[in-house]
Amino acid sequence: MNSAESARTAPPQDPAGPAGPPGSVTGPVAPVAAAPGTHQPLARASLAEGLLHQWQRRNLAASLPLALRQLEDAGNLNNVRLAIEAGRAAEPKTADAEGENTTGADGYGAAGGHRPVGVGPVDPLPGTGYLGPVFMDSDIYKTLEAIGWELAHGRLPGNPESRELASFAAEVTALLEEAQRPDGYLNSYFQVSGEPRYTRLAWSHEMYCAGHLIQAAVALHRGAGDGRLLAVAVRLADHLVREFAGQERGLDGHPIIETALAELYRETGTVAYLELARQFVDQRGRGLAGDSGMGRRYLQDHMPVRTSDTEVGHVVRALYFEAGVTDVAAETGERELLESSVRRWDDMVSAKTYLTGGNGSRHATEGFGDRFELPPDRAYNETCAAIASFQWSWRLLLATGDAKYADHMERVLYNGFGAAIATEGQRFFYVNPLQRREDHVEKDDPSRRRIWFNCACCPPNIMRLIASLEHYLATEAGDTLYVHQYTGSRLAGAGLDLEVTTDYPWSGAVYLRVLAAPQAARGLALRVPAWSTSTRISVNNDPERTGVSPGYHILHRSWRPGDVITLHLDVTPRWTHPDRRVDAVRGCVAVERGPLVYCFEQADQLGGTRLDDLVIQPGGVLGERPVTLDGIGQTIEVTAAVTGMPGTPVTAIAIPYFQWDNRDGRPMRVWMPHTPGS
Ligand SMILES: [Zn+2]
Repeated sequence: MNSAESARTAPPQDPAGPAGPPGSVTGPVAPVAAAPGTHQPLARASLAEGLLHQWQRRNLAASLPLALRQLEDAGNLNNVRLAIEAGRAAEPKTADAEGENTTGADGYGAAGGHRPVGVGPVDPLPGTGYLGPVFMDSDIYKTLEAIGWELAHGRLPGNPESRELASFAAEVTALLEEAQRPDGYLNSYFQVSGEPRYTRLAWSHEMYCAGHLIQAAVALHRGAGDGRLLAVAVRLADHLVREFAGQERGLDGHPIIETALAELYRETGTVAYLELARQFVDQRGRGLAGDSGMGRRYLQDHMPVRTSDTEVGHVVRALYFEAGVTDVAAETGERELLESSVRRWDDMVSAKTYLTGGNGSRHATEGFGDRFELPPDRAYNETCAAIASFQWSWRLLLATGDAKYADHMERVLYNGFGAAIATEGQRFFYVNPLQRREDHVEKDDPSRRRIWFNCACCPPNIMRLIASLEHYLATEAGDTLYVHQYTGSRLAGAGLDLEVTTDYPWSGAVYLRVLAAPQAARGLALRVPAWSTSTRISVNNDPERTGVSPGYHILHRSWRPGDVITLHLDVTPRWTHPDRRVDAVRGCVAVERGPLVYCFEQADQLGGTRLDDLVIQPGGVLGERPVTLDGIGQTIEVTAAVTGMPGTPVTAIAIPYFQWDNRDGRPMRVWMPHTPGS
């Protein structure tokens, strides 16, 4: 690869200062200390044995190597090389320069097609060689972000996988340094096509790509101590400030720049970035995003954010925007803005969210439907939407300290998000339905997970979240360490150093051992999920005598090294009945166990009984089978009847939803019909 000009490779100033005490890494969201939020992320957290640790190891060993290959094979990196060539030959065009729009209104580039999930060869942009949709750069940036968080795990220099990631990041950063225009602009599609900048913001994804670049730069800086991409991001952000601050030039049709600018403010201390994020938040809802051809609701540009009560339009856009809204509210202390986001979150979770934590019930818009419009077979539940939801909830948790956000993050993580990736880590779902029929055929929603997509937003998005999972486990507030998610881990905050040992989510037993504690009393807050109906907590085998109820159970005392806190959550399998207003699943039940939603897959049904013929019996037994089927964890047996065969109960087998489609790809369903009166 070409090396960049020397002026561009100079390391940036390090405004955030040194990274803190040994072993500390700032994670994906780092509110400044003075912000009036109630919680702070932990600087020291890591995953140990357990399911999430397995996911993170798989990410390093299988998923990220795949991404590195795909970014070359799909043309993403070559697009940047083409931008370098174009930059050598041309000055940036201005808005009034001539430019031919060759992408069509949907923004999916020369590949054509309205829906983004298609796979297979695509034609290059005529006369240029550019491949793929206009936002191809964002796949590179998500992968770089994942690498930044992954390199924070301290596996260098002995691990060859980590070394490969580090050298990839260095090579791609050099490419991006070289592709960046002298004024800071950087977008391979617009540099290669020669189209004028910022003239069709509803679909151009220019600031969307910029946002992902900024997030990658922040991750590489925080996680790997590498400031080179941060310097690129700062030049690009400065360019955006020059172009947009104090003006009404338009808004990017796909949010994420808001939360990215807030994070860059946190990383650099440059207030202009937060101000621009605040401006973009304030300006949305006034028609400035332009005509998307899909209506203003699709772009969340239909009404000002402070007055909006419900989520509408394209889900990923809506929820990335909410992450930015919450970031801006957290940093500015504006209560009205935060309260509006809380209000929409409550509405979304109560009326526009699937049991798996997924969002989006309309394929045509990848969007939200009406309240309680939640058909299981038509669930869109884009993987990126689960990630955006998780990120938004985390920000609200930091700003409010309310356990409901951690409860929901858990539901999203183990179900809607977890199902998006195959057990082997190299195949992905873009759409995550709650029912899959035998004869399913749909271009934008293939029956099985795919290795990659023409619109590959989801796979590298999965990778950046998994690489950073340890940062979402716990927070500190005042003198109290809050543990939100239970998994094998090491957590240090509020003066306490804890080792968490558990087989969660397979078991509800969690052991927290104090490794270090100060003389003074400290609080330890344990989240009791809403689904745990009988929870026990003991300290050094001494049971808590006060009742333990959902929310945070706070133990406040002087701790000593060696103290062991034991938490027993009730993971007995349970029936879940739908809200009566969800017409599509009226008369059905689902099975849950702890944080896991279960599903019934054809592959497990005994005697070849057809899935659609099974009807759950009244009071049907929920029996657990400790055995695993082909690597599938903890199955559950229930009593069912077979349609047309009265009086002959059969056993139906359920598996965790996140593990479906790892075998023969036959039908699956979460919601099962039950016999009347059960
Ligand atoms: Zn996606």
